[in-house]
Amino acid sequence: MKKRIFRSMCLLSAFGVLVTTLAVAVLLYQEFYDNMQLEVQTEAEYLVKGVEQDGSVYLEEIRNKSVQNRLTWIDSDGTVLFDSETEAEALDNHLSRPEVQDAIIKGSGKNARLSGTMGQQIFYYAVRLEDGTVLRVSKTVDSVFRMVLGCVPYLVGIAVLVTGAAMLFAKRQTKRIIQPINNLDLETPMDQDMYEELSPLLLRISRQNASIEASLRALKEQKEEFQSITDHMREGLLVLDNRGSVLSINESARQIFQVQKDEVLHHNILRVSRDEAVQHSVEAALGGENGEGLVDLDGRSYQLLANPVWADGILKGCILLLLDVTERQKAEQQRREFTANVSHELKTPLQSISGYAELLQNGLVKEADVPRFSERIYKEASRLMALVEDIIRLSQLDEGQEEMEKKPVELFTLAKEVGARFQENACQKEVTLTVAGRPAKVCGSRRILEEMIANLCDNAVKYNRAGGTVEVWVEPLEDGTVLTVEDTGIGIPEESRSRVFERFYRVDKSRSKETGGTGLGLSIVKHGAQYHHADLKLISELGKGTRITIRFPKE
Ligand code: ADP
Repeated sequence: MKKRIFRSMCLLSAFGVLVTTLAVAVLLYQEFYDNMQLEVQTEAEYLVKGVEQDGSVYLEEIRNKSVQNRLTWIDSDGTVLFDSETEAEALDNHLSRPEVQDAIIKGSGKNARLSGTMGQQIFYYAVRLEDGTVLRVSKTVDSVFRMVLGCVPYLVGIAVLVTGAAMLFAKRQTKRIIQPINNLDLETPMDQDMYEELSPLLLRISRQNASIEASLRALKEQKEEFQSITDHMREGLLVLDNRGSVLSINESARQIFQVQKDEVLHHNILRVSRDEAVQHSVEAALGGENGEGLVDLDGRSYQLLANPVWADGILKGCILLLLDVTERQKAEQQRREFTANVSHELKTPLQSISGYAELLQNGLVKEADVPRFSERIYKEASRLMALVEDIIRLSQLDEGQEEMEKKPVELFTLAKEVGARFQENACQKEVTLTVAGRPAKVCGSRRILEEMIANLCDNAVKYNRAGGTVEVWVEPLEDGTVLTVEDTGIGIPEESRSRVFERFYRVDKSRSKETGGTGLGLSIVKHGAQYHHADLKLISELGKGTRITIRFPKE
């Protein structure tokens, strides 16, 4: 633009200078021509007087003085009487010359033409004398040309100077015109002091700026919204483009894969994980299929769901979702184990019952042994019943069926009631069972709490030795209530301490069965504690005793 303006200005000024120079040259020529005519006329008039007085003598005198202009004296019939440059006799009759004609008729005449004799453009001026002859003065127009040509160097010089000055001026002016445009701040186009002609353009830029700004703001808000939603998701979420580069990764996914956002953003998914399951799922999704897989990371299991993203029939990328299925997997595993264990546990007493019953049915038992066999059957059936009851209790706790039953329970009174129930049993085993403490209220299910205390007391008596003690202690504290069941029994070996709360786990299988244990007692205690949001702690020393503490939170 700058160049164009500058070039246009230069061209314009050069054209102006050229036209002016030509006009000046033409005017000069005209002026010189007029002057030449006037000079020739004045000279003619002057000469007329001399010729009228002295005739051809005067003219001869003039010729000898070598005058510049040509003088011709013509008789009234056109015969040339004298010519200052040629012999008069050699010249033809001049009557037909327009200036001579005019001079004879009007007294004077002028004409400019190409002279046949001289071969030049000549100006003629003729004056009639009193005797009717005509005196003609002529001058070549070339002299005017020469004069004008003499001025040309000056004219050219002036033109060059003016053109140079005009170019300098044009350069400065172009810079001044362009400067505000160069300095234009497109961020705030309407605040600029700018040419009026640019106002519509600036207005448009300003409107477009506002619309771009609004779009950017909306985009940013959407992005932030998306980020904040996805960052609060428990599931890991990754958005990939169609080449497998990470476009977005949420906080959960970042933690699952243990990567930094900056390290993986806009890089291939391989930077996030090289796990085969991840790669297969992504490949499937980028191939237009739904991909699925299972990946184990840092001791946890995640289900992978990779879905392709289409837009207008074109695959744009894929979304990878990671669901933590550790608990589900564990629960499923436990359920499988539980089912297997239950079947096994039920099978044993049932087999015994069925065996004894078969012997009785076939009359293979002596009359005297019948009560013993019946007692065996009764014992096994009772064990079966206890087992079934424990299983039902556990299932109920598992499914949270008791959720609605929570209400304040006086734990100390309950502990005393349960303790009283076990007194007889304790006596038989020569164990002293005491319940002490202070009244304390716990919000929960009486039935579950009773079962928990009963299981703890049962174990404390069962796994005790003659002369041992069992202490049940209830204590209301600032931050909740504590229930402790402590015995001086056989204790639990260290390797089993973390496992005794598992279903069907027994330290000594035969002893437990002998005492009618199902292996579910402590599992019920653990589930009951979870149901009451209570903290469960076990301290035990082999051969010395066991202490189990349940800390109920303050309601
Ligand atoms: P069980 O019905 O066999 O008693 P539990 O789940 O109540 O099943 O207990 C699991 C195992 O933990 C028991 O088999 C026993 O070996 C051990 N145990 C539980 N309580 C005590 C305790 N107070 N003293 C010693 N061992 C115990």
